Amino acid sequence: MSVDEIYARVFADLRPSLALPAISVRFYRFTSLTSNIRLQQGRLQVKISDLLSEAPEAVQEALAYILLSKLFRQRPPKAMVERYRLHLAEGDLGLRLHAARQERGSKRLEDPKGEYFDLEAVFEAMNARYFAGEIVKPRLGWSQKRSRTILGHYDASHHAIAISRLLDQRQTPKYFVEYVMYHEMLHIKHPVETTGGRRKVHTRPFRTEEKLFAEFREAQAYLKRGLR
Ligand SMILES: [Zn+2]
Repeated sequence: MSVDEIYARVFADLRPSLALPAISVRFYRFTSLTSNIRLQQGRLQVKISDLLSEAPEAVQEALAYILLSKLFRQRPPKAMVERYRLHLAEGDLGLRLHAARQERGSKRLEDPKGEYFDLEAVFEAMNARYFAGEIVKPRLGWSQKRSRTILGHYDASHHAIAISRLLDQRQTPKYFVEYVMYHEMLHIKHPVETTGGRRKVHTRPFRTEEKLFAEFREAQAYLKRGLR
């Protein structure tokens, strides 16, 4: 089902007596999770952050209920709010990793040598273990902010990987820092694909290869438990 069809179905569910407008749903490169909806002259226009373009259909449906309820000035169904909230809370690491990928301008990176982890060493270890040393070394650095929403970021235009300084702590498992680095390195290996105007950041080969990380399940579990 296309996203347009999801909106048509939800529209009909919320306002069965209204004629269905022409619907256009577009994903935009917002740097946040902003979404807009408006109904003008029989056209329903929805703009959603492309950070959500890979979200499962159930999540698209939940967001459709939330946005259309907002448009009709009514309370969105609780179950839908909960579903959407859960997706953001536990959901795709990719979403959290890429929230800032559209940042423009030159990036100031801080010294890769942190208090507990040296990103140069982490990079070299991952490159040797998983990539036969074939990933061309990017600029590496800790982010200035201790972001808990953006754990890592690969900036293709500057060939730079930034890792959130939040992870440079004694209690962060080493495998988790390695996992975030590995994930970002996969972005170097598997560039973004564009099909039909939609950007696919985590392609199927990307997802398959990501699971080869030795502590993949532990890393996912750690992420879900929530970072301190
Ligand atoms: Zn990613």
